[in-house]
Amino acid sequence: IDDRLFRNVMGSFTTGVTVITTEVAEEVHGMTANAFMSISLNPKLVAISIGENAKMLQHIKDAKQFAINILSSDQQLLSKQFSGQLDLKSEITFGSYKGLPVLEDSLAIVTCVLHSEFVAGDHTIFIGHVTGVKLEEKPPLLYSQGKYRELKELEG
Ligand code: FAD
Ligand code: NAD
Repeated sequence: IDDRLFRNVMGSFTTGVTVITTEVAEEVHGMTANAFMSISLNPKLVAISIGENAKMLQHIKDAKQFAINILSSDQQLLSKQFSGQLDLKSEITFGSYKGLPVLEDSLAIVTCVLHSEFVAGDHTIFIGHVTGVKLEEKPPLLYSQGKYRELKELEG
């Protein structure tokens, strides 16, 4: 199967957009990720999948905890910043929640301690045990077919 076709097919599954944040040796790191899912209600577990070349892989192994910032529709620039498509480094400020750096204006925040990890091909799946959640009333940022989009409610 051709790589581009595979990505186009995977990109046809519309997702929200998150920025994974963590802190190692007093340095804050962020990375845009859409490979995020809810895993278990009891206990409360979530999963993220991080590529083998991403710096975030080692940061999560070192920190053993991370936050998932679920972006709102007005945070497209943050998604671009944390996927290396922009350089706004000096303009980004982080808040703090449950001892982790977070993006304050997010639609939702999920904080986790590392529960387990599984290497799968060229990615590592990190399972997080949820330690805190926060939710605001905002529309989500969507990612579909390689483009950022907004939610539209259908009639009827
Ligand atoms: P870096 O290259 O160190 O950081 C990424 C960017 O974030 C850099 O530009 C850096 O300047 C900036 N940054 C980091 N920390 C800070 C800070 N403290 N303040 C300000 N800026 C900072 N990859 C995956 O592995 N899994 C996914 O699920 C995934 N989903 C994606 C979804 C979308 C919509 C997009 C666009 C990309 C996705 N990626 C995913 C790709 C991933 O975001 C990029 O490969 C990313 O550049 C990898 O970052 P890194 O961990 O190597 O860190
Ligand atoms: P794209 O067309 O590359 O991505 C569409 C979909 O393909 C993504 O939503 C994801 O489901 C899948 N995908 C893309 N790259 C992947 C990878 N390396 N491993 C596993 N699945 C992958 O979209 P784009 O706008 O060209 O993406 C921008 C950049 O972000 C690209 O470099 C892409 O590789 C990266 N990205 C990586 C992941 C990931 O690692 N899970 C997810 C999304 C985007």
